[in-house]
Amino acid sequence: MSKNHFQVIIIGGGTGGIMTAAQLQRKAKSKLEIAIIDPSELHIYQPAYTLVGAGTYSLKRTQRPEAKQIPKGCHWIKDKVSSLDPDNNSIDTTTKGKFTYEYLVLAPGVIYDLSLVEGLEEAMKSDVVCSNYLDPEKTWQVVQNFKGGNALYTQPTTPIKCGGAPQKAMYLGEDYFRKDPTLRKNTNVIYAFPGTVIFGVEEFKKRLLEIVDSRNLILKHRHRLFKIDPVKQIAYYKYPLEHPYESLTRNDDENKSNSQEKDGIIEIKYDMLHLAPPNVPPTFISESKIAVQEGGLKGYAKVDKHTMQNPDYPNIFGLGDAMGIPASKTGAAIRKQTPVLVDHLLAKIENRTSDKKYNGYSSCPIVTGYGKMLLCEFDYDNKKESDPYLSKILDTTKDSWPMWILKKYGLPWLYWNQMMKGRM
Ligand SMILES: Cc1cc2nc3c(=O)[nH]c(=O)nc-3n(C[C@H](O)[C@H](O)[C@H](O)COP(=O)(O)OP(=O)(O)OC[C@H]3O[C@@H](n4cnc5c(N)ncnc54)[C@H](O)[C@@H]3O)c2cc1C
Repeated sequence: MSKNHFQVIIIGGGTGGIMTAAQLQRKAKSKLEIAIIDPSELHIYQPAYTLVGAGTYSLKRTQRPEAKQIPKGCHWIKDKVSSLDPDNNSIDTTTKGKFTYEYLVLAPGVIYDLSLVEGLEEAMKSDVVCSNYLDPEKTWQVVQNFKGGNALYTQPTTPIKCGGAPQKAMYLGEDYFRKDPTLRKNTNVIYAFPGTVIFGVEEFKKRLLEIVDSRNLILKHRHRLFKIDPVKQIAYYKYPLEHPYESLTRNDDENKSNSQEKDGIIEIKYDMLHLAPPNVPPTFISESKIAVQEGGLKGYAKVDKHTMQNPDYPNIFGLGDAMGIPASKTGAAIRKQTPVLVDHLLAKIENRTSDKKYNGYSSCPIVTGYGKMLLCEFDYDNKKESDPYLSKILDTTKDSWPMWILKKYGLPWLYWNQMMKGRM
């Protein structure tokens, strides 16, 4: 009979799940019995999707067999979790039935819900609509086929993983269009997004706005995407309730983008469209007792933002994109969350206390063009937290070639060879 009880069960074998399993094995005083539940055959290094979408990295290099990532000695349950019953320390899976645990780690990431934007599902089938989140190879096709007009880059109103990814696609797209001066002249590059600032950290915002102005990129703030008409090629937006009709744009004083506004609804015509799809937490979390019950993070898993432990069920921990904490949803954030979670979990098992705290660290490597990257590192207070070693050798408030090399070669190497092995 197959085993159905484990000391530690980890839901999700992506970035957070594998790092946690690998570090638990390295740091535990005695051998732990760990199971990872994940249905996926492939483990994906998602940060390189941005480069795939710009034709400078192959999709194949982002993928490795999941079987090779599962740390030796961990059980892999190749299945999908369908529900969670924290009162009985049990979970249900789609095909293999019920499993029970002593300790549970949640790391299932987010899922994409295209139905939250009317017309999006249909629009994704169009030859001029693309998303690095869904199919980065298609993005590269769309960019190469673009013949001028409005190149619209946008994102939904939900939180999204790697919040900087939609603007990275824009900088790379514009850099590509600029190789043909006539094409660039006939193109409006537009970034329409719900926020009021292009980046929340003052030092990085300053540099990004310099880039936006010098390259004549059009910013449209407070644009809440709700509908796409793939036949007319129009994206529809509303302003936020607290700022009705109060537009905030940059580099579009003469309305070159030809956006139309009527009764609080803004229409932007596109000749190509890149977007991030709405991100939501998996239903086994949002429908469970451990979900945040209200506010902007409703439905995400409730964990303490400093210890990664659930306050109501102390044997449940979680990290990564599915957590209801105000941290950016990035692999870089998970790199700092993992040792904290692991220490608190081991402290419980080993009957000791832990004083480790996660401070909200995240980093967003904003690729500003082919050969340039700005490494934006910050904490919960949006305070710049650049790596002290990097800060000694270069100005971290400027995009640079060495950072591009880090993005294209250094970070993927660190991911596969260090982070996935529990070494950092
Ligand atoms: C285009 C793009 C660009 C990005 N750029 C960067 C970047 O430059 N830097 C950076 O740090 N981060 C970046 N990210 C974000 C980063 O990839 C994610 O934040 C990170 O992978 C999240 O890790 P996770 O473990 O929470 O989820 P994931 O790595 O997504 O893993 C979740 C795993 O859980 C499994 N799963 C899901 N549901 C279930 C279920 N019901 N039962 C069992 N298993 C389940 C999935 O199969 C998957 O394997 C980017 C992401 C994208 C899409």
